Amino acid sequence: MQSKKIAIVGFGKIAKEQHFPSIAETAGLELVATVSRRGEAPAGVPSFPSINALAASDIAIDAAVLCTPPEGRSETARLCVDHGWDILLEKPPGISVQDVRQLHDDVSKAGRILFTTWHSQYNAAVDGAAQRLASQDIVSMHIDWREDVRKWHPGQDWIWEAGGFGVFDPGINGLSIATKIMPSPFSVKHAKLTIASNHRSPIAAEIQFTDQISAHFDWREPSDECWKITVRTTLETLVLDKGGSELWVDGQLKIAAPSQEYRHIYARFLKLIQTRESHVDLAPLELVEQAFRIGEICQTEPFQS
Ligand code: NAP
Repeated sequence: MQSKKIAIVGFGKIAKEQHFPSIAETAGLELVATVSRRGEAPAGVPSFPSINALAASDIAIDAAVLCTPPEGRSETARLCVDHGWDILLEKPPGISVQDVRQLHDDVSKAGRILFTTWHSQYNAAVDGAAQRLASQDIVSMHIDWREDVRKWHPGQDWIWEAGGFGVFDPGINGLSIATKIMPSPFSVKHAKLTIASNHRSPIAAEIQFTDQISAHFDWREPSDECWKITVRTTLETLVLDKGGSELWVDGQLKIAAPSQEYRHIYARFLKLIQTRESHVDLAPLELVEQAFRIGEICQTEPFQS
């Protein structure tokens, strides 16, 4: 069978580091073009300045992978769908739940498929935690997501803008794991969002959810990053560490698998393309939307990134 021809739109950090190598390693997929404002592409792959310029070329495309910032992504996706391409969206899938729901409707009506990806969910340790928790009574969960923004997002001004999510850009990864491993849905009770006076989106957040669930996100972590979720049940304490790649139970390491998140994402995308099914998961974005809607805003000193 012929490989599915993929175009990456927005060839920045994650496209270079994860999407490009993962597509190259997935039999049945082939990267045939990029759409890049700066003309960025891997060696030998043609780059186009716009979706329409790519569509006007003689390169056939089956699917577009959107790695641009979330603001404006749904408009970009609609343009791609107009050209008959299936869509994979980097996380977060859009700037609001309604925005992505509407996009899903439009994509379905056009007969294309939509895949909203949450890379942190694609870990064996996360699946292992979900299986253990399915049959247990959960007492509490804490999501601790702290990193140095200067180390992980150098030169990315968009993250500080209103549609850029701020510290929720990494924090939503923790939420995507939490929504996958918790047997039932939960919601935000209250939140405190700390915003540096020279930015529009939060640099830190404290969130209290229903069911004894809490989260702490901070982009000012001076030492090594902490991407950890601790779940206490009536039987045991589970810790998902290192962004969901390690599962510890009562202090013992149970699962540690090297990160293959994007390989799993592309294996699934290929299946979705072949079976003509969409996969749209909005639960993590719903929680962020609730925190932004009801969160108390606290201004803090200016922060230079
Ligand atoms: P990035 O390095 O800033 O890349 C985004 C790219 O999108 C830019 O390089 C640019 O590429 C294009 N672009 C189009 N419109 C833009 C605009 N208005 N402002 C800035 N760039 C624009 O960002 P990234 O880290 O790759 O993140 C992209 C998405 O992936 C985000 O949603 C992020 O949450 C997600 N993600 C990032 C990571 C990570 O570790 N960085 C991990 C997982 C997921 P061209 O010049 O080629 O057009």
